[in-house]
Amino acid sequence: MTIATTAKGDKKPTAKRGMMENVLEQFNTAADKINLHPSIRKILSITNNELIVHFPVKMDNGDVEIFTGYRVQHNNALGPYKGGLRYHPTVDIDAARALAMWMTWKTSLAGLPYGGGKGGIQLDPSLYSKNELERITRRFTFALADNIGPEHDIPAPDVNTNAQTMAWMADTYMSTRPPAERSANQHVVTGKPAGSGGLEGRDRATGYGVYLSIKFWAEYNKLDLNGKKYIVQGFGNVGYWASHFLEKEGAKLVAVQDAFGSIQNQEGLNVEDLFNYSRENSGSIVDFLNSKPLDSKDFFGVDCDICIPAALGNQITEKNAHTIKAKLIAEGANGPTNVEGEKILLERGVVIIPDILCNSGGVVGSYFEWLQNRNGELWMLDEVMAKLDKKLKESFNKVYAYSESKSMDMRTAAYCIAIERIAQAYVQRGIFP
Ligand code: GLU
Repeated sequence: MTIATTAKGDKKPTAKRGMMENVLEQFNTAADKINLHPSIRKILSITNNELIVHFPVKMDNGDVEIFTGYRVQHNNALGPYKGGLRYHPTVDIDAARALAMWMTWKTSLAGLPYGGGKGGIQLDPSLYSKNELERITRRFTFALADNIGPEHDIPAPDVNTNAQTMAWMADTYMSTRPPAERSANQHVVTGKPAGSGGLEGRDRATGYGVYLSIKFWAEYNKLDLNGKKYIVQGFGNVGYWASHFLEKEGAKLVAVQDAFGSIQNQEGLNVEDLFNYSRENSGSIVDFLNSKPLDSKDFFGVDCDICIPAALGNQITEKNAHTIKAKLIAEGANGPTNVEGEKILLERGVVIIPDILCNSGGVVGSYFEWLQNRNGELWMLDEVMAKLDKKLKESFNKVYAYSESKSMDMRTAAYCIAIERIAQAYVQRGIFP
């Protein structure tokens, strides 16, 4: 047996740089606006718990690799920690902290009884077989097991993790419990396959929420989506489903970028064909029929009305914000726009529907799944979609009204609402002891 010291691949983390600075600056801007009590500001500026685990996994060839996994629990004033686990080379403690904070604001804004957490494993999943990924996931779950739980910290899918990952996690976690408690622990993770305690529609919930946010904004601003051009960065679960619903409104997908490259066609790319193509092509959209390749650095400058970053953080920055043609940015990803990039965009009159509102359909769907498991129910797809509609409309209306009445951008408005709710819980309960 040989032991390798690190996981395969030596890609340098790039997307996470500055994430923590970003989320703290966004938080402090809103905290200033609402005159947040200094003690509560102190509490919310730091994470409650941080877990780093190193664990060995046997590879298909018999070698053993050591992996590093993270779980950061930012705040649980409103309920159990909630948030995804991502598998990506950029996962580290800084990224996990920032992403956990974003979850706290997101769940609070959505009015859910949850706090915020996030984590993942620093690895490139494309370098591992399915069997290896299963063993990595199960061993990671085992390492986390005492620190997660259905009423304590509830992970979910995120970048490069999916329903299959959650099924392995649920199965492993349940296996660590005494026999009589196993089934009662199914809701330790959400985003499971529909056949294993998952929620019908959870797969599309985030992308559907992105689409709804765009639709609600268009309704307020008397904009017809029919014929409007949009570009999408990231054609995974979020990017695809948002496009699927936008196409039904007659909007035109004119450029897509993924980890493999960028393509464009001003006449429009067929969303379902592109989805099928990418699935048959190891997830890559490159060389899709009737599309022209596009230099990746020119992607955000493509002529369009709406831009949907639905990949990683820190993609829209001071380096490219001035090139953006879109009038509306709908943040499907977490933290895709950095503070400097946002300043440029706001000065130019570009509207940003912030991540904590725009992509909250995912965690709202997770909440429904959690309730379904907890109550021993099985919900129908139309019921799920109707409940999502209602919940997301409430959040959107709240943020839109706040931003209009206080003349602030939608991100600051969303943060103010989210922080006020958590602050109220601290005021009501006080600080132990
Ligand atoms: N990973 C998703 C997010 O960033 C979903 C989290 C969840 O459902 O807990 O919002």
